[in-house]
Amino acid sequence: MAVLTTPITQERISPVLSSSLSVVIPVFNELPNIEALCKRTVSVLNQLGCPWEIIFIDDGSTDASYATLVRLASIRPNIKVIRFVRNFGQTAALAAGIDHAQGEIIIPMDADLQNDPADIARLLAKIDEGYDVVSGWRKKRQDEFISRLIPSWLANKLISIISGVSLHDYGCSLKAYRREVLKHVKLYGEMHRFVPIYASWEGAKVTEIPVKHYARRFGKSKYGISRTFKVILDLLTVKFLSTYFTKPIYVFGMAGFFCLAISLAAFVWMVVLKYFYHTTFIETPLPVLITMFFIVGIQFILMGLLAEILMRTYHEAQGKRIYKVKSAVNIDTPI
Ligand code: UDP
Ligand code: MG
Repeated sequence: MAVLTTPITQERISPVLSSSLSVVIPVFNELPNIEALCKRTVSVLNQLGCPWEIIFIDDGSTDASYATLVRLASIRPNIKVIRFVRNFGQTAALAAGIDHAQGEIIIPMDADLQNDPADIARLLAKIDEGYDVVSGWRKKRQDEFISRLIPSWLANKLISIISGVSLHDYGCSLKAYRREVLKHVKLYGEMHRFVPIYASWEGAKVTEIPVKHYARRFGKSKYGISRTFKVILDLLTVKFLSTYFTKPIYVFGMAGFFCLAISLAAFVWMVVLKYFYHTTFIETPLPVLITMFFIVGIQFILMGLLAEILMRTYHEAQGKRIYKVKSAVNIDTPI
């Protein structure tokens, strides 16, 4: 672990508060917020008295965000800046921040001052209780009711049910992670919100605490309603990968059998109609249905077989295993 540069100014309060912190902040056109955000966060972190760094990721801003960040970084060496060549999205920005973070505890946060840096201390207190992931819950969220709060409420319910990890607010950026739980997490799409789920599936202890939330004062939100649909599609992917990744043929095969069953039922019904009700084959749409479902059913099964080949290539080419060892006795390096 590299040593972070800020000297420890206060007495150490707890094991967690002597851990080094990395605050990771994606920035996309947040010029009016950056200075105040930085000032507040630095003052909170200094009060904590542990080594810290702030990593800003400029996600292709077109305003002067980057120049401001560079200026702030020139004053304090533990303010670090990464700049993307173009806008890759908040998830990619977080991933870059996490990849470069050196702290033992990683704290993502938004750049728009909707989160309160003062909540970091409370997140850390929970980590100190032994949790690996502490998720913020914007209990009094200050966003649009129709376009944000309702879709988000539904999405959170759905994610909790499907993932089996029950949190009120996956979308809150302000969270705290012990570094180890992020080691194997690979982020795609809008998936940064699912990190607590991945972590929990890997055996991490996850909890949530209410955090403050303010309305955005400067700049605009970068998202609209379409994000909810993206999140649901990501959720399907996550669920599929977690449950069926090593057995994709079960999903495709089941869909295939289902289509073949419909095809067979339509066939039986067609024969019954012809011989008992004297309706000829071409008087009903049944022959078309039979053919369609038969072809689709076979296609599904073939796709499942292809997915099996892909999955094997993935695991074997990268030397990935289909299990993960938690601990071992008398084995030096369990794999
Ligand atoms: N953000 C980013 N890249 C993007 C969109 C957003 O880095 O393509 C950052 C943005 O600057 C902010 C955070 O992600 O720090 C959350 O964005 P926003 O406040 O627009 O989301 P909301 O709070 O409305 O959900
Ligand atoms: Mg925001």
